[in-house]
Amino acid sequence: MKERPPLVVANWKLNGGTDLICASVASFLRQNFRVQIGIAPPYVYIGNMANFLRNSQIMIGSQNVSKFESGAFTGETSAQMLKEVGCEFCLIGHSERRQVFLENNASCHTKISSTLSAGLMPIICIGENAQQHELGLTKHILYRQLHESLLGQNIKGQQIAIAYEPIWAIGSGKAATPESVQEVHEYIFNELCTIFDEESAKNIRILYGGSVNKNNAAQLLAMPNVDGLLVGGASLDPEHFSEICALA
Ligand code: PEP
Repeated sequence: MKERPPLVVANWKLNGGTDLICASVASFLRQNFRVQIGIAPPYVYIGNMANFLRNSQIMIGSQNVSKFESGAFTGETSAQMLKEVGCEFCLIGHSERRQVFLENNASCHTKISSTLSAGLMPIICIGENAQQHELGLTKHILYRQLHESLLGQNIKGQQIAIAYEPIWAIGSGKAATPESVQEVHEYIFNELCTIFDEESAKNIRILYGGSVNKNNAAQLLAMPNVDGLLVGGASLDPEHFSEICALA
């Protein structure tokens, strides 16, 4: 039995629609899982999905959040608004947001603060790219991402999670090996002890993401410091995603 209850999160990215929502809701309401499950659909579906799944074990979350609370910021959605429509967690700093929308550790810091103030759980995505991986810079990159986005955050009484997602593993079909994930997660745990304290760090779940599927999920989850998974492509097939959740 793991110290922290496992969490498996689906990141639908810019995919899905009414058909996927209906299939997912039907599939989830049919089953009982031993793990906590989260789904992050595109913003516009959050309210409906949260209503459909209100009394289930499934949490609905967002893939992003504004760093602003209100005002003249066209196209933005605040943490408080997300909370109002039933959102329970926000992915922050996904590598696609960092690469395509130029988010950085400083903007992640602000978004984490807003999310915590609204009482939502931030899931902070971190990870190195292929070149950094080959140059042996993984821990250096993670150190900066963790320290620059988390130092000074008030997490007392709040839930937060980290998702380690090596960029080279995302959507590539090449997941990191369970042993290498374990080593990196142990490093992340030690840094969390430094940033906060050991007691707080023990409550922070560290998820792995990057080409997770039903064939590699069990081995990844068997690693002592792997507290769950963040699943992209495989979460778009409700049966496949359910099979992954059932392994946790
Ligand atoms: C992701 O982008 O968060 C992700 C984990 O994607 P995939 O599972 O498709 O690699």
